[in-house]
Amino acid sequence: MTNPLYDALFGCHAGRQTPFLHLPDGNTITHDAFLRMAARFAHAISDLGLAAGDRLAVQIDKSPQALAVYAACAQTGVIFLPLNTGYTAAELDYFIGNAGAKLVLASPQRSTDLAPVAQSHGALLHSLDAQGAGSFADLAAGCPDQFDTVPRSGDDLAAFLYTSGTTGRSKGAMLTQDNLLSNARTLTEYWRFTAQDVLLHALPIFHTHGLFVATNITLLAGGAMIFLPKFETDQIMAHLPRATALMGVPTFYTRLLDEDRFDANLCANMRLFVSGSAPLLAETHARFAGRTGHRILERYGMTETNMNTSNPYDGDRRAGTVGLPLPGVALKITDPATGAELAPGTIGQIEVRGPNVFKGYWQMPEKTAEELRPDGFFITGDLGLIDADGYVSIVGRNKDLIISGGFNIYPKEIEAVLDAQPGVLESAVIGAPHPDFGEGVVAVLVAAPGATIDPDAILAQLGPKLARFKQPKRIVTLDALPRNTMGKVQKNILRDAYAGSFS
Ligand code: ATP
Ligand code: MG
Repeated sequence: MTNPLYDALFGCHAGRQTPFLHLPDGNTITHDAFLRMAARFAHAISDLGLAAGDRLAVQIDKSPQALAVYAACAQTGVIFLPLNTGYTAAELDYFIGNAGAKLVLASPQRSTDLAPVAQSHGALLHSLDAQGAGSFADLAAGCPDQFDTVPRSGDDLAAFLYTSGTTGRSKGAMLTQDNLLSNARTLTEYWRFTAQDVLLHALPIFHTHGLFVATNITLLAGGAMIFLPKFETDQIMAHLPRATALMGVPTFYTRLLDEDRFDANLCANMRLFVSGSAPLLAETHARFAGRTGHRILERYGMTETNMNTSNPYDGDRRAGTVGLPLPGVALKITDPATGAELAPGTIGQIEVRGPNVFKGYWQMPEKTAEELRPDGFFITGDLGLIDADGYVSIVGRNKDLIISGGFNIYPKEIEAVLDAQPGVLESAVIGAPHPDFGEGVVAVLVAAPGATIDPDAILAQLGPKLARFKQPKRIVTLDALPRNTMGKVQKNILRDAYAGSFS
C-alpha cells in the first residue's frame, strides 16, 4: 500500500542530505532532517489519538515546524487544516467548530486565548512555536524519527483549506491527495521546476499560493526554498541573487519596483517570477520587464481548485491576462442565467473542470450544489472571457457585477480609470440600490498621501473616458479600503455601508 501524496512530496527525499530550507538566520535544513522532524510529529499526532480522516487545525507562524506539521498530516492521513495567523480566537471558533478539529496546534502565546475555544468544541490543544518550542514539540522530542507511513489513496482527503472570505464567510474546501498532487505535477512541468531550483518563498503558508503552489512544487521537484517569514523588500533583495524563482502577489512586484536599488543585476540568477491571487496591472508587468528584462508570469487559481490557468513558460506572456488553461483543466465561459457556453470574446462566468477541482465545501451541501455541477464543472464566481488565441482574462467577481439601467458594468474598468486620476491612491467601485436604475455606481476612493480628492473634478475627468451609465453617481472617500487578512478588498462591507446611497 502507498500514500501517493506523502510518497511523491516527502517520502522520496528520505536520506537526502540536500538543502530543503534556507532560513534567514543562515541555517539550512536538509530534506532528511526535515523528514525526521515530520516523522516525530507524526508519532506525536498518533500518540494524541488522531487517525486518518481526523482534522488537525494549525495556527502557527510560518516556520519549518509549520511545514513539518503538513508533512506529518500527509504521513498519518490526518486532514491538514492550516489557519491564517491573523485570525483572532473569536474567528478561530468558527473554523475549529466547523471543521470538527480533533487537535489544535497554536503558538504558546495563543494558548490561553484558545483554551476555552478548543474546549467548547471538544478539541485537544497543544502549543508549538516557530522556534520549535511548546507542548507539542515536547511530545515529539521523545518520539522516534521514523514513522510507518499510513496507506492512503488519491481519493482520500488531504486538506481542508478555507477560502479567504473575500465575498462572505470562509468556506472549507475539501481537497484530496489527487487534487493537490495532480496540480503540483502539472505546474512543476509547466514552469520547469527541477532539483536545481531555489525558490524565494515570502508568501504565507496557510493559503493555497504559498502552500500548495510554491511548497508542493518545490518538494516535487526536489529543490530548495529560501524560507522567509514574510515579504520584506530589503530581505528579498538580499536573497534574490541566489534564488532562481519567486512567487508573489502583485504588491510584491510594485514594492520591489518602488526601490531604485532593484535592478536587472539583482535578478541575474533568476529564471522565473510568478504572480497571482489578485490582478497584476499591465502597467506593473511592463515596468518590471523594463527594469529587469523579466516578463512576470501571471496565473489564476483559487482555494477550491488550486491553479487553473497560466501564461506560458515559453511563448507569449500577455500582460493583463491569466494565460491559457493548464493541461488537464477544461475551462469555459458560460451565461450566468442559463449556464450555456458563450462564444470567444464574450464576458461570462468562468467554469473549470479537472483533477484539480475540490470535492465540495465541508458541511455546506447547499453551497456545494450551487457551485459544483453534476458534470464536474465548478462555477468559480469569477467573470471573464477567452480570446481567439485561448488566453483568459478576468474582469471581476460575479458578485461585484453592477447592473444599472439594464447594462452590465464591470467595476474593474471604472477602477482602472479612477486609479489613474491624480491624487487617487486606489479605488473600489460598487453598486448600490437605485430607485430608477436598479443599481447605481458608487466609487469609494482613497487619496494619495498628502492629496485631497475633489469629487467634482474627478467626475469632470471621467466624462470623456466612460459612458454615462458607467459614471459614478456618488463618490465617497475613505482613509483605507476594508481588506481581509489576505489583503483583498471586501466589497460586501462597502456595499452594506453605502446601501442607502440613493434611497
Ligand atoms: P471567498 O471565496 O471566501 O470569497 P476568495 O475567493 O478571495 O475568498 P481565494 O480562494 O483565496 O479566496 O481567492 C481566489 C480568488 O482570487 C479567485 O476566485 C479570483 O477572484 C482571485 N484571483 C486569483 N488569481 C487571480 C489573478 N491572477 N487575477 C485576478 N484575480 C485572481
Ligand atoms: Mg472564492
